[in-house]
Amino acid sequence: LRDTYVAAHPESRRIMSDAAEFMPGGNTRSVLHFDPFPMVIASGDGATVTDVDGHTYIDCAGEFSAGLYGHNDPVIRAAQEKALSDGLVLAAPNRYEAGLAREMCVRFPSLDRVRFCNSGTEANVFALLTARNFTGRSRFMFMEEGYHGGVLTFGGGKASRMNAPFDHVLAPFNDIDAALATIRANKDELAAVMLEPLLGAGGNLLADKAFLEAVRAETQAHGILLIFDEVKTSRLGRSGLQGHFGVTPDMTTFGKYIGGGLSFGAFGGREEIMMLFDPSRPDALMHAGTFNNNVMSMAGGLAGLSEVFTADRADAFLDMTEATRAKLGEALAAKGVPVRPSGFGSMMSLHIGEREPRRWSETDSRAGTLRSLVHLAALEEGLVTTPRGDLYLSLPMTEAMLDDVVAIISGAVAREFPYVA
Ligand code: PMP
Repeated sequence: LRDTYVAAHPESRRIMSDAAEFMPGGNTRSVLHFDPFPMVIASGDGATVTDVDGHTYIDCAGEFSAGLYGHNDPVIRAAQEKALSDGLVLAAPNRYEAGLAREMCVRFPSLDRVRFCNSGTEANVFALLTARNFTGRSRFMFMEEGYHGGVLTFGGGKASRMNAPFDHVLAPFNDIDAALATIRANKDELAAVMLEPLLGAGGNLLADKAFLEAVRAETQAHGILLIFDEVKTSRLGRSGLQGHFGVTPDMTTFGKYIGGGLSFGAFGGREEIMMLFDPSRPDALMHAGTFNNNVMSMAGGLAGLSEVFTADRADAFLDMTEATRAKLGEALAAKGVPVRPSGFGSMMSLHIGEREPRRWSETDSRAGTLRSLVHLAALEEGLVTTPRGDLYLSLPMTEAMLDDVVAIISGAVAREFPYVA
């Protein structure tokens, strides 16, 4: 696989080798690296991307979920072009941001008020600092294998060496007893519990409703804020996973697709918490950021939520992609391969076993190797996943393309599984 890949990507190889002179490993986003070198993408169209060596792929890397709208949605593009032609750096409120804030507050149950920033990482840092100010406490609880951005990584191994400039404790995802015990043991120190209602980078493991309900009740009992990181999962249905599960956190963070494909982050929550930022208050908290309300993200994001990814479209997309995920599981079962896609709707990962895991302790560590092999094997068939093998589906994908995704991935898994078994 590796030799075929190298032979098929001479121009990518040349560009990546030049890049290594000025960036460590030629790379500025660790998650995009893979061995021997990543291919350089020249362009995207709809739900496909084309590399500098002339290969076109079905785009299941989906910019790690930020690519929900695909590469050139006409409505979003028109909004961005209008914003571009009206001038970019206005240093003032603009006519888009309140509309986007309204769309979000109407849609997500936990949001009375929201503020914008530039990335999901920033949104999470601001939410944690807000919780610290609101509660007067300074410790946080996260999930083992949780991922909240480049400085808030709780996965094992190398990645976590950069993690968490915060006093924190960890609990295992979807383990009610352990999570409640950890909360109780730290109840007087905890400002907030932050979790992803679908553990994303930790293998796309969906939360159990009972787990979220238990953590909700326990945090509430001790005046600890519950923060859902819905940076990725806000795409799963009309009101994200908080709506799906009917569990309302005190605060929620966002990012990714909501910016219409451009840099974006947001954090919001209950009125009494968010009003700490009201600048007319003498003791108002400071939240600044040059590009917080940049017109391109605000205009594209507003057009996206109000005209493209409407509440009904979000529900329909969840149903359609959940059907695709089921078909992939059935195709793998039909081939007799003990591999299944975890996740929900348009976000999935391959795991070894006949049942999709819900806890990290139920995952098989050989799946990492399998996903890397499937990544390379699928490239040969004209489909790109993320380098670590996660799949994201996007709005421009037709039914026929989703069937191709099932066929290519199940075929690649069937061929590569014997090498890890
Ligand atoms: N939270 C989650 C759950 C994420 O998946 C990510 C990014 N993959 C982030 C936060 C960080 O967002 P950003 O990359 O925009 O900083």
